[in-house]
Amino acid sequence: MKLLVFGKTGQVATELQAQAEVTALGRPQADLSDPEACAAAIASGDWDAVINAAAYTAVDRAEEEEALALVINGAAPAAMARACAVRGLPFLHISTDYVFEGGGTASWRTTDPVAPQNAYGRSKLAGEEGVRAAGGQHAILRTSWVFSAHGANFVKTMLRLSATMDNLSIVADEVGGPTPAADIAAALLEMARQMKTDPNKGGTYHFGGTPAVSWADFAAAIFARAGRRVTITPMPSADYAAGMRDKGRTHAARPLNSRMDSTTLKTDFGLSQPDWAAGLDAVLKTLEAQT
Ligand code: NDP
Repeated sequence: MKLLVFGKTGQVATELQAQAEVTALGRPQADLSDPEACAAAIASGDWDAVINAAAYTAVDRAEEEEALALVINGAAPAAMARACAVRGLPFLHISTDYVFEGGGTASWRTTDPVAPQNAYGRSKLAGEEGVRAAGGQHAILRTSWVFSAHGANFVKTMLRLSATMDNLSIVADEVGGPTPAADIAAALLEMARQMKTDPNKGGTYHFGGTPAVSWADFAAAIFARAGRRVTITPMPSADYAAGMRDKGRTHAARPLNSRMDSTTLKTDFGLSQPDWAAGLDAVLKTLEAQT
């Protein structure tokens, strides 16, 4: 399969390049703040499918740069999807649990109403709507709490903080599914293969790690597996947000409930929710090998 990937340095883009031979375009080759340049990149090659793994992911900064986030996360994937629709190519796009309002304790289903609570979520929702409106064969894969050995993520932050601190206050009332970037990449590659074979396949899907945990529980698992002796003080997210405000830093509202029901991905593509503990072990092993 000749796969074009937008994104080169990000967590999922890095894993896509590790798992398959793809043409990956970084920011210098295709800047998502120029949606038509992205469409032109699709038109310039002979692809079997296109995957967008690039995005504006700075959740807090997006509160101050919503217009830019809307172009990168909204207009760019819409332009990509239109270019793919014209050529009859499957287009695969990654979205987020942040499109939901985030209340309750039930796992979000793909049919649940959306109501993003922050600028990043609104920009990602705009991308979903643009991709669907393009009218071509597409898959939107909503995921949550992505981690890997690359880039910035919660696992790496916890390892960095625990190197110098033995007591950490961690948010305990936000619950979700940590999702290994390697599993997202593997799922996208399998979906692309199946979509290429069957033009009727596609839609909106959820893919979150299992079992659901709080950030505090996830941190405890990270410390236990990495052999770090850290005492965790559970903290309400409201206190964390207030602390950020006291420091004069922008803090976007986050969903308390990021549980995702991944049933339809299993039904349509045979793909199961990833076991985040196994993914965490693999990431810790990779990070250890790098030291
Ligand atoms: P990363 O933050 O690791 O990487 C983002 C990538 O997008 C980088 O390669 C970055 O390039 C690129 N990018 C940003 N702006 C532009 C631009 N203007 N032009 C070209 N490239 C750009 O992302 P993840 O791998 O973690 O996320 C992948 C997908 O998953 C995204 O769609 C994200 O919204 C979604 N998602 C992520 C979650 C998470 O916890 N991280 C949770 C739920 C969904 P550069 O290095 O040049 O900045």
